[in-house]
Amino acid sequence: MPGSLRIGKIFGIDIYIHISWVIILVLLTWSLAVGWFPVLYHGFSAVTYWVLGFIAAVLLFVSVLLHELAHSLVARARGLPVKNITLYIFGGVSNIEKEPGSPGIEFQIAVVGPLTSLLIGVLAFVFFFLLGQYSPALGAILWYLGLANILLGIFNLIPGFPLDGGRVLRSIVWKIDGNLRRATRIVTVVGQIIAYLFILAGIWLFFVGYFIDGLWLGFIGWFLLSSAQSANSEVMLQSVFRGVTVSEVMNTAPTTVPANISLQKLVDEYFLPLGLRSAFVIQGDRLAGLITLSDIRHVPREEWGQTPVGLAMIPRDRLHIVSPQQSLNDVLPLMAGRDVTGKKPRKSYTNKTTFPVVLRSAMTLWASTACSSRKV
Ligand SMILES: [Zn+2]
Repeated sequence: MPGSLRIGKIFGIDIYIHISWVIILVLLTWSLAVGWFPVLYHGFSAVTYWVLGFIAAVLLFVSVLLHELAHSLVARARGLPVKNITLYIFGGVSNIEKEPGSPGIEFQIAVVGPLTSLLIGVLAFVFFFLLGQYSPALGAILWYLGLANILLGIFNLIPGFPLDGGRVLRSIVWKIDGNLRRATRIVTVVGQIIAYLFILAGIWLFFVGYFIDGLWLGFIGWFLLSSAQSANSEVMLQSVFRGVTVSEVMNTAPTTVPANISLQKLVDEYFLPLGLRSAFVIQGDRLAGLITLSDIRHVPREEWGQTPVGLAMIPRDRLHIVSPQQSLNDVLPLMAGRDVTGKKPRKSYTNKTTFPVVLRSAMTLWASTACSSRKV
């Protein structure tokens, strides 16, 4: 995600924070400090409420991170490489480089996230009952974390694709029916129906006077709807290429260029007239490397006349080689990732976690107290 900052590495997986995360951290801290904690717990100082709000908000994000780590670690254990985890305004995303190849693997990767949240929630409640009586402040945080994580687990189990629950449902339908494309269509339709129900409920709440609740619910619906639609088109594209091998689409007589010509000559006599984005470079009669448009762009234009292709190319030992029998679905992300096609990288399989319901409950409480204090 552009606008993301790397904050560290856990189990070899890079953890990023998106700029939008700061907004939600501030919003959540504020709504907890001004609404949630003062309403439920009396007698703390204003500073204490803000400290409680901040700690609870940060711990909620730690919980979201653990939820994402659970997805990522199971994915990696099942042979799917994990690029990174990003925290952003709607929660967290695990960027996994490949779609799961079987319904069993998809079920395991999807279900482990909400189970982790439910487990954290239960543990928080257990610690609340053990320790809450000794420290009211600690008890307040544990109670909030317990509630938030249980809601997080339940919300993400809603069977609308691409929420975790949608993926769980898809793996079950896929297993029974054996057809991934049909399973995907069914669960994205379910996902869109659920999204429209959220939007309708939001509109209804808005017009009966619950403005913030209504807006928030509508916002969740809109988010679910756009996610379901993009997930559907992504999977449809993948299923089109399912079973297609490299040998069926590859060019058996690609254009080759000599290594000793200049970049200027390469652009003028090969790339522009032939509409190429890349070409193999030949030295003598053997393959020396590959030259692509992005390699040329890295060289300043005034140096094109003096720079030989052999100097700007990717040498053969650094090329990623695939076999004609390999599946196109495995090779396309490699090509996009290495900019061989000159096009933007395709989106990879992502596992999103959202917690708008959690935020909403805090916001709502804040809103209702704001209204009641105004009436008084
Ligand atoms: Zn999840």
